[in-house]
Parts: sequence; C-alpha cells; structure tokens
Amino acid sequence: MSPFEPEFAKGTSASVLRCLQARYTADTFYTNAGCTLVALNPFKPIPQLYSPELMQEYHAAPQPQKLKPHIFTVGEQTYRSVKSLIEPVNQSVVVSGESGAGKTWTSRCLMKFYAVVAASPTSWENHKIAERIEQRILNSNPVMEAFGNACTLRNNNSSRFGKFIQLQLNSLLVPRAQQMTGAAVQTYLLEKTRVACQASSERNFHIFYQICKGASADERLQWHLPEGAAFSWLPNPERTLEEDCFEVTREAMLLLGIDAPTQNNIFQALAGLLHLGNTRFADSENEAQPCPLMDDAECSVRTSASLLRLPEDALLETLRIRTIRAGRWQQVFRKPCSRAECDTRRDCLAKLVYARLFDWLVSVINSSICADPDSWTTFIGLLDVYGFESFPTNSLEQLCINYANEKLQQHFVAHYLRAQQEEYTAEGLEWSTVSYQDNQTCLDLIEGSPISICSLINEECRLNRPSSAAQLQTRIESSLAGSPCLGHNKLSREPSFIVVHYAGSVRYHTAGLVEKNKDPIPPELTRLLQQSQDPLLKVLFPADPEEKSQEEPSGQSRAPVLTVVSKFKASLEQLLQVLHSTTPHYIRCIKPNSQGRAQMFHQEEVLSQLEACGLVETIHISAAGFPIRVSHRNFLERYELLRRLCPGVAPSPHGPPLDEGRSEWSPHSEQATLQALLQDILHTLPALARAPAEATPAPVHCGRTKVFMTDSTLELLERGRAQVLEQCARCIQGGWRRHRGRKQERQRRAAVLLQAAVRSWLTRKHIQRLHAAATVIKRAWQEWRIRMAFLASKELDGVEEQHSSQVTCSPSSFPLPQAQTRLLGAVTRFWPLGLVLANAAVGARGFRRRLVVFACLPLPVGSLSSYTVQTAQEQAGVTSIRALPQGSIKFHCRKSPLRYADICPEPSPDTVTGFNQILLERHRLGHV
Ligand code: ADP
Repeated sequence: MSPFEPEFAKGTSASVLRCLQARYTADTFYTNAGCTLVALNPFKPIPQLYSPELMQEYHAAPQPQKLKPHIFTVGEQTYRSVKSLIEPVNQSVVVSGESGAGKTWTSRCLMKFYAVVAASPTSWENHKIAERIEQRILNSNPVMEAFGNACTLRNNNSSRFGKFIQLQLNSLLVPRAQQMTGAAVQTYLLEKTRVACQASSERNFHIFYQICKGASADERLQWHLPEGAAFSWLPNPERTLEEDCFEVTREAMLLLGIDAPTQNNIFQALAGLLHLGNTRFADSENEAQPCPLMDDAECSVRTSASLLRLPEDALLETLRIRTIRAGRWQQVFRKPCSRAECDTRRDCLAKLVYARLFDWLVSVINSSICADPDSWTTFIGLLDVYGFESFPTNSLEQLCINYANEKLQQHFVAHYLRAQQEEYTAEGLEWSTVSYQDNQTCLDLIEGSPISICSLINEECRLNRPSSAAQLQTRIESSLAGSPCLGHNKLSREPSFIVVHYAGSVRYHTAGLVEKNKDPIPPELTRLLQQSQDPLLKVLFPADPEEKSQEEPSGQSRAPVLTVVSKFKASLEQLLQVLHSTTPHYIRCIKPNSQGRAQMFHQEEVLSQLEACGLVETIHISAAGFPIRVSHRNFLERYELLRRLCPGVAPSPHGPPLDEGRSEWSPHSEQATLQALLQDILHTLPALARAPAEATPAPVHCGRTKVFMTDSTLELLERGRAQVLEQCARCIQGGWRRHRGRKQERQRRAAVLLQAAVRSWLTRKHIQRLHAAATVIKRAWQEWRIRMAFLASKELDGVEEQHSSQVTCSPSSFPLPQAQTRLLGAVTRFWPLGLVLANAAVGARGFRRRLVVFACLPLPVGSLSSYTVQTAQEQAGVTSIRALPQGSIKFHCRKSPLRYADICPEPSPDTVTGFNQILLERHRLGHV
C-alpha cells in the first residue's frame, strides 16, 4: 500500500483498488482521490457516521479537509466557499455512480448537512424557515423515489431519472452566514418507457406497486383494483420491497401540499393506466377494419376509460385508428392501425400521461420549496446523475445517459486539469510537463457538427423516411468511418454500432432507435386526453393552441423536429452552463458488490465502476504529470534517513530541525533549512539507481510546500529507504547479537563461579559434619574403652580372687599387681579383636566361640551361665578393626555401607554402620 494514504499516491488502478479495499475492510468508506471523494457503499447502517454531532464537528473544524475524508468535508467546503463570496460563489456537487451505489443516500445526507449548518442560529424565524425548507426537500425524496425509482436487476431502488437540486441560500451580512431559503428541483430523462415495458426480473415504478398493495378496501373498489388482480404492466408483484410503503408516499405528498382528493385523483389515473395495459388487440382480418379486442380486453378498456374519465368509444377509436391530414386543404383521412401500431399507441398514451404526471409533481415540489427569486443570492447544486451504462442490449436511453456522462467527464477532466494547473502554478512548477488528450473525439462522434451520431438519427426523424435498422447502421458507419471512437462488431448479426467511450466500449442497437428518438406522440392521443373530465388530466393536458401546433408537424412545416436527442442535448447544455458557472465538487459512489452485502468487496466490479466514473482516467491524467505530491514535512519524515547515503552528510540525529521555538527562527531560515535537507535527499537519487537508464535525472520537483514526483521516483526513494533500513536493521541485529553473546558469556562465568562457591561450601559443610561425627565417635569410643577397661579390671579382680587366694578385695582398696594390670591392658586393648575373631566366619564355633567372647568381654566367670553370647556371624558386621597411627580407628564391615559414601555423604537413617553395629551387638549382649 502506498505510504501516503488516504490520498491516492500511485498512478495505477491496482494500487487504487488495493487502497480502497483495505479502507473498506477497516470500515473506512470515504477516500480522497485528487479533487474527487470516493464513497463506498457500506450496505449497512452506520448511524454514528452521519450523526448531528459529527456534522457539527466538520462544521466547526478550522480545516475540515484535514479531518477524515467524508461527505461532510465536501458539504462544509461548498458551504464555506459560498459564505466567502469569492467568485465563483455558487457551488455544485456532482454525485455520480451506478444504480445502487448510494447517490440518493449521499444527496440526502448532504441536504441534511446543509439543513443543519445553514440554519441561522440568530433568528428563530429564519431557523424555522430553514427547517421547513429542509423538511420539504426531504419530503420530496419519497415522492420522487416512488414515481421515479424502480427495482432493477442491480438495485431495488434505482433512480430512473437524473436530478439537479438547487439549494438556494441567502447571504446574511450580520452574522456572516448563509441561510437556506428555498430549493428547486430539475429532472432529466425520466425512463418513461418503463411504464409500458419492463425487462424480465425488473419492475415498474414503485408507485404502481404501492397503490396495488397499500390501497384500502374502499379505494380498491373506487380504483378497480381488486385484491390479487393481475396486470401485465405490473411484473413481479410478489416481491415486496421496503420501498413499497404507500403511507410514506401519501404522507410526504400531503406535506408537500398535495391534498387527499388530488392524491386520490393521481392514484385513480395510475390505476387507469394499469387497466390500459391489459388492453390487448388481435390481428385484423381486414386492413380496412380496426383491430378487434382480445377476449377480456373490453372490460379493461371500459375500466380504464372510466378511471381516466375518457369516453370509452373515443379511447378505443384513438388507439385503433390513425388520422392523417393531407392535401392542400388538410383533409382528414382515417386509417385503421395494425395490431403492432395499436400496441404502440396504447403504450404511448400511458407514457405520455405518466411523463406529464411526473413533471407536474416536480413542479408541485418546486412550488412548495422554491423561494422567491429575490430572496436568494447564492446556491449549491446537487447533481444526482445516472452513471455510465452498458447492458447486453443498449438503445437510445443508454446513448443519452452515456452521452451525458461523456459531457460530465469532459467537464470533470477540464476542472481537474485546471485544478492541477493551479496547484502547479502555486507551487512554482512548469505546467507544460503535463500533456493529456481528453474525450473530445468521442464527443465529436456523438454530438459533433456537421455529422455525428445524434445528427444522423435526428436527420432520419426529420426526413421521416422509412429506414431499416441495417440502413441506419450503414449510414452511421459510412458517414463517421474516420472517427477513432467508432467501432463495428463484425460478429453481431443484429444491426449495431460501437462507441468507444472513456469508460469502455458500448454496442448500441440501431433497431427502434429512430422511432425512440422521434418519440412520436400522435396528436389524436393528446386531443383525446384533452377531452378528459378528470380534473388532474385537465391540468396535465390543457387545451393549448400553441402546443397543438407544435405537436402536429404537418408535412409543409419547416419547424425543427423536437426529437428526444435534441431535447436532451438542450437540457444537458443548460445543465453544463450551470456547472460551468459554479465551482464543481465530485463525489463518486461505488458499489463494492452487486449483492448489496456488507463487508464484501469485489475487485472486478469496483474496477469497472472506477472506469465508468472516470477515476481510472483521472489516474492516467495524474500519471501524465506528477501524481505524487507530498508535503515537505512528510517527505522529510519519511526520507530523511536517505541522507546517510550521501557521503559527507551527517544525519541529523533528531530529525529535521524544525523547532519553531528557537529564538532566531524565521520562516525564511526554516524554508532554507528545509530546502537544504530536501536537496540532500534528492541528491541521493542517482546513487539509488540500479540500471543505467534509471541514472538519468529522476522526474521530481521541489515545490513551495510540496515535493512533486512520479511513480518511478517514488519507487527509487522507497527502494533507497528500504536499503537504508536494511543496513540499519543489520547493524542493530549485529549489535544485538554481540550484546547478547557477551551477556551470555558473563552469565556463564557467573554461573560457574556460583557453582564452585556453592560446591566448596557444601563440601566444607560436609567435612565439618564428618569431623563432628568423628569427634563424637572418638569421644564415645574413648569413654567406652575406659568403661570397658574398668569393667574388665573389675572382672579380672574377681577371677583372680577366686582362682588364687579367694581373697575378695575391692579394686579401689587393693592396688593390682603389675602382671595383672598388663593383662587387663591387653584385654582392654585387644577385646575388639577378640570380638571380631569371635564373629569371624571361620575359626571357633559353638561353645568355644562363646568362651572367646567371654574372654574378650571380661565377664565374671561365675556368672557365665547368666550370660548368653550371640554372634552375628551370618549378618553384616565388622570384619576388621585397624588402629591408625594418627590415633583414629578404622572399622571394616563385611557389607560396608561405606561403598555408598561417595554418593551420599549423609548416612542413611536405616543403614547401620560398623561401629553402630558393634554398639548394637553390645546393646543386645547387655540385655542377654
Ligand atoms: P442510487 O441512488 O445510487 O441508486 P441509493 O442511494 O438508493 O443508490 O443506495 C442504495 C442502497 O444502499 C440504499 O437503499 C441504502 O440501503 C444503501 N446505502 C447507500 N449508501 C449508504 C450509506 N452511506 N450507509 C448505509 N447504507 C447506504
């Protein structure tokens, strides 16, 4: 996506499409495209987008164009331009787009906006007037839509006419404001053929369905519209749309001043037209006789005549018999019509009545909203115009619509080019750099002089000569063969010609083109309708002698024939004159999908609409010059980093020095600094070019406030930016990796240090524990040894006494002889050895073993029987004891748990180690 949204920056339709899609997905429905506002139809209600608060926000904003793109921006800009009273004061807003794109919605929103902002806050009376006008304009919408809109294949509520609403404003000098005082509506090219002819799956105008569905029982009786009645001009009645609300139309008509009897009169006439549609003719067997009616048609004619308050006979005669005035004396001849002619006359009658009724309604609306010409000075025009159309079969209606679109496109292009030129001049750029060919060639083909498609069709009508569709095709092709915008579809069998419009090629069928252009209204039909007793028809068809002479061109009359094309051309010229006298603003409505579903964006459909509304063409124009314009500040913000590529230029670390708070600040110095920075950046462009072709000076201009450049320059700049960013990213990544490596190394070293410290601490603790344990053992051992020595000496004393002299004396009272003391020392010293030997697996057994034990443990001999000696020979135990030179003693156990000592320094509570085992043994012995 372009870096400079929401203004389209790149000159390609693909990027425009991508930009629109991204914004649509983000629920952003308005986008600026040059001087055009693109409005995407959200197809879902978004009340906050049109709230009065938001209107006030745009109205109060110092620069509304700096707010998000919105129709209120256009509304506010037009309103401020009118208020400024700078020429051209009057403004116009051209709202275009295909059917269902949201034109009516947009016009309605704009009207609401003007009604809110253009209501004078000072005077209560003025405020009331503005409110009343607003209400009337808004009320005119349901009426115009009921009578002028229909359900088509593309849109349920398609406007079948063009509309220019002139909002009339009066400038108030105190306060400096504009107040809406009135409005006027002008309509163009109502598709009246729809009354009598509807394409399959399409419908007639909404109003016919409204009266058939919404009439009360009395009204049904009065209008002969029984429930479920079938009408051939009312296809697809089963489809109920929200537009079929009869009550809303009636209410709006009432508010516009159309009272109930008049309304009744209108609906009765419409019912008459529906019955007229059921009038069917059969082929006549005799050319001199009028065509007979089909079986049930008689009743339809009667009902129709009574509803239109026409004499039934006169109606039938007018439909079936043609009167011709000929000869010197203008004699009247009566000629029965063929069946096809009867059908055409019937349809013509209905179209005539409907078209006049529509025009009358517009005049009623205008009389109710139009202000006195003296009471308004300025205006804002809203042109709600049908978009470019191309169907499988295109006829005169499409030719006129597309012709109007070509005209408007030319006007738009001229305005756009002018706007560009003004911008370039204001920025100090040479305009000559832009060259663009507009659509004048196509317009020359359609309306040019002396020969064009319009002139050829009009010529056929003027000469009134019988010509076939094929002849017309040949005439057009041969007369306009030199035009580059005329094509011919050789594959098509039907006579047709192709016009290459700015929005695409359209094939127009020549069949019926001349007839449609003539739009012949047989004078008998007008005369018949003038005979009606119906008050409404009397108003619609007054007996006007002037009109009579106009509608009855006699063979001798040389007055120019008023064809559909010539009338359309005249009204278009008038419209363009109005547009030329105003400052135009453009809103292009786009339908993101044809299903009318929210959040669905079909690229192909949108692209074809962008083409049809001339946006793609605008992009081409824009691409021919400098499509990308970026303000200096934005440019610096984005590309300041490119200065790094300039050798010898130190990038400013804090961005562009635009500090306005500096004491020596002046606009000139800032401008000079800016220009220097910009030039630095632009000097990097040659260095960015890869191919030699790119090295030629890039098309870029530094304007007064903006930098103007082309696509290729933008690409170069973006590439350079990406390059610098990549370098920076690499640098950052390298730095980060280095930093991370160093940090990890530091952490590793710290971990090793910590581990070593902890290990040494643990080892020290362990050794300390072992030392403590050894000390305890040593102490216990020494205590035990002393005790044992004492006990042994005691025992030895007793034995000695018994065996030698039987003299009893206490060890304390008689000192032991030296030999005895030595023996006692030996026993005391070697008793563990005796114990070990006694416990040894080999050696003494049984009683001898016991004796050894007794000997080792100097037990009193007399008490031998009272001792039981048990050895734990089969169990684990001490296998050897060794006294070490240091004074410590080493025990060797058979199943020494010491083999686990290297694993777990802590002795297991369940494990019995050597010395403890001895203690146990002793303990056990002690209790024997
Ligand atoms: P057009 O006049 O171009 O034929 P409409 O203005 O009638 O089309 O719009 C067709 C439908 O699209 C409307 O009935 C409405 O439901 C919907 N629509 C159009 N614009 C908006 C919008 N801005 N917000 C919500 N819905 C919209």
